[in-house]
Amino acid sequence: MSITHRPDLVFERGEGSWLYDHQGKAYLDFIQGWAVNTLGHCPPEIAAALVEQAGKLINPSPAFYNGPMVELAGLLTANSAFDRVFFANTGAEANEGAIKLARKWGRLNKGGAHEIITFDHSFHGRTLATMSASGKAGWDTLYAPQVPGFPKAVYNDLASVEALIGPNTVAVMLEPVQGEGGVIPAEIEFLCALRQLTTQHGILLIVDEVQTGMGRTGKLFAYQHAGIEPDIMTLGKGIGGGVPLAALLAREAICCFEPGDQGGTYNGNPLMTAVGVAVMQRLLAPGFLAGIEARGQYLSERLLALSAKHGLKGERGVGLLRALVLADERGPEIVRQALTCSPKGLLLNSPRPNLLRFMPALNVSEAEIDLMISMLDGFLAQ
Ligand code: PLP
Repeated sequence: MSITHRPDLVFERGEGSWLYDHQGKAYLDFIQGWAVNTLGHCPPEIAAALVEQAGKLINPSPAFYNGPMVELAGLLTANSAFDRVFFANTGAEANEGAIKLARKWGRLNKGGAHEIITFDHSFHGRTLATMSASGKAGWDTLYAPQVPGFPKAVYNDLASVEALIGPNTVAVMLEPVQGEGGVIPAEIEFLCALRQLTTQHGILLIVDEVQTGMGRTGKLFAYQHAGIEPDIMTLGKGIGGGVPLAALLAREAICCFEPGDQGGTYNGNPLMTAVGVAVMQRLLAPGFLAGIEARGQYLSERLLALSAKHGLKGERGVGLLRALVLADERGPEIVRQALTCSPKGLLLNSPRPNLLRFMPALNVSEAEIDLMISMLDGFLAQ
């Protein structure tokens, strides 16, 4: 079915920051599957984890424990504020799980409170409930009627959240950086105040770290920049380094699912969770997260210099999730030009017409950043 405008080319091979099409043309990839390929294309540790696990056990069923599932749950809980994990396949599915968990917790603890306050311009996925939770323009009518119970507040505006809290409120859910909304970071003070406000009202704080988690912002999870402890977190994208894996995590006191409440055929299957273990081990290796922060800073400086040179409107972001703010709406045109450029192409994304978004592999090199900047410099000059 036609669900996106795909260019007339077929990708056949990938290695690190490079993709190669059916004619052998190379593309420098600063999209990486939409902030998914944590370690770039086809990293040896992921290939090895898949091959080794495929030879041992692919699917015992989610009704049984398996080694990689237990190991990954242990790594995630040991390195976060959370105690339990439910593995899912996509970010939307993890968020659906978070919504269900919060609603059940509200039924048990808050007299049936079920509303989850979310934010304008937020993005939480493409299932009916997560589309309803999202604040994307037009999504309120696309598949009407929406799933009810997701009032929208204004991002970085505490008073707008406070005004929506009522007897039916069970939680506030947000992305620590609104990725699809245009790479807009939540202010640290806003996150801290939101934690205080939710605690004061006895409601849950849910962070959707599908795009910001797994090192993307230079810390393992973006909520850690604010020094807060949310109640629920969702992960997706980067946790699988390119394979379908996602997770819902919560503090022990919130974990009220009982057998039969939640599940899914592929949840926690060892082929995917073995990859998650390989990704986590790399992220936890000494110096890896510090390297992301350093190269995020480097990318930021190079983008700022480019902005000054071409009279653009600056850049923003955290770690290796960044955006260049253009002076006009040429984003989609630059993306097209970068793709078709020869002999080498460049893969960029424009989530809004006046923005270019950069989501490289977390192990992207300074030399690759330099090459991307010099190519972009040429497109901007043209
Ligand atoms: N949440 C956030 C913050 C996202 O950025 C995305 C995808 O872009 C999703 C949820 C949905 O994830 P998936 O496409 O894996 O369902």
